Amino acid sequence: MHYIVITGGVISGLGKGTITSSLSHILSNSGHNVSAMKIDPYINYDAGTMNPYQHGEVFVLEDGGEVDLDLGNYERFLDRNLATDNNITTGKIYSEVIRREREGKYLGSTVQIIPHITNEIKRRIRTLAQSESAEILLIEVGGTVGDIESMPFLEALRELNREEPRSSVLFCHVTLIPEVGASREQKTKPTQHSVNELRGIGIQPDIIFCRLKGQLSDESRKKISLFTDVPEAGIIGVPDARSPYWVPEIMNKQGILQYIENYFGMKPSTFADPWKKYKENIDKVRESVRIAVVGKYTHLLDAYMSHKEAFTHVTGVTGIGVDLVWLDSDSLKESTNDLESVDGILIPGGFGYRGVEGKIIACRYAREHQVPFLGICLGFQAAVIEYARNVLGMKDANSTEFDQNTRYPVIDLLPEQEGVSDMGGTMRLGAKPVTVKENTIAHDIYATDHISERHRHRYEVNPGYIEKFEDSGMHFSGVDDANIRMEILELKGRKNFIATQYHSEFKSRPLFPSRVHKYLVEMALEYRRGRSNERSS
Ligand code: GLN
Repeated sequence: MHYIVITGGVISGLGKGTITSSLSHILSNSGHNVSAMKIDPYINYDAGTMNPYQHGEVFVLEDGGEVDLDLGNYERFLDRNLATDNNITTGKIYSEVIRREREGKYLGSTVQIIPHITNEIKRRIRTLAQSESAEILLIEVGGTVGDIESMPFLEALRELNREEPRSSVLFCHVTLIPEVGASREQKTKPTQHSVNELRGIGIQPDIIFCRLKGQLSDESRKKISLFTDVPEAGIIGVPDARSPYWVPEIMNKQGILQYIENYFGMKPSTFADPWKKYKENIDKVRESVRIAVVGKYTHLLDAYMSHKEAFTHVTGVTGIGVDLVWLDSDSLKESTNDLESVDGILIPGGFGYRGVEGKIIACRYAREHQVPFLGICLGFQAAVIEYARNVLGMKDANSTEFDQNTRYPVIDLLPEQEGVSDMGGTMRLGAKPVTVKENTIAHDIYATDHISERHRHRYEVNPGYIEKFEDSGMHFSGVDDANIRMEILELKGRKNFIATQYHSEFKSRPLFPSRVHKYLVEMALEYRRGRSNERSS
């Protein structure tokens, strides 16, 4: 078993997640069996109850785990599914230790951070590595070295290094190289300080990733090596890249693979880049479409990370560029002008009443103006509410999430949710089978009867209204395996309007983009061309 630990220094937000993902990508495409784990030192049990506005998107795994968005990056870069245990938090560690204390498992002893908490951390790490039979497990530690919260984790990792055979734990540290003044001189002092901080905890790094704007100079590399005792070959410059998908190549060119294999005493291998054509397509984009993303967290783009990535994946396989236009749904209550110049509309998932009316307006606009439309989760539910209100004449139709007393509860609580009061981990979560009906747009898109997609919701289309919708032109072309949950909707006679209760963005991968995102982009291109033909004739 080999472990690569990635810590961060100087400031937060340096792209440690991208570096971890890129490293895992290089190693797994060099023939190694790799897995990745994220440590989040916050007290929350998991990311499920966190506001995307503060923390970015809540990512959902196959097994229903609600986890940090970095796990999404790992899955995309590793091209494999991960599980809930690939994300540990202070909350998970402490609740386990306290549970065992109550059971009397530590009878007689004083339960302490060292060794009880640190042992539990190490146990989780080793169990994961074993259960996945990973040859190399990457462990990214959230936060910045020196944070009080991450101390027990760093201590546990120091102990791991001490207990495991020599040269089987490799420490990487990500730092910032500021470039100051007109001459843009590269400054190494923050890196020196940060490494000193790490050494104070008893960890000597083996690799330093230097984040900076341009190329790391030889002089900086030498200096950092001298002050930190890391060989020059282990000082890797990570300049700002056009997108995270370019980072593996940048790192690989500096010999990172050879350095790591040499450290672990492994046979040398070579990195086979599976994304050559994919990156070429992104580079060579000739035609682009404008897609509006109508949401309420549009000020923090990380809140829609997987959608953003899904569209990049679409560009990578189709060569069609996507310019995302982020629209705050509330603004549509004043005017829909912003929708006039877009070629497609995406309404992503969301919770709570604020912003919903704007989303319903966007659904109506897409339906009435024939604009290509994709609704996801709350976007799917908004399309149902809009249709009920404006086509079926159910004036105050709503979801009971937003109006308990609506006369037309077309979206209602899932029956199994009655009486559930805990907020954490209690939604309908994770991968579930969906049956795609024949002779539908959805069937054309998927070209199969059975798919499996990830979910995260508490509400659903109220079964009591389904017949009314079906009779009037809204067709549910995808259902769950028991045929009671509506999963996909489309409009009769309309090929560019589709919505899903599930979140296809979570399973989108660079070479296998979410099918419905790809379809939206293709429809948007057709729509755009149609409009420009109209204008020129
Ligand atoms: N709030 C809705 C529900 O709970 C939609 C959830 C979502 O968009 N993820 O069903």
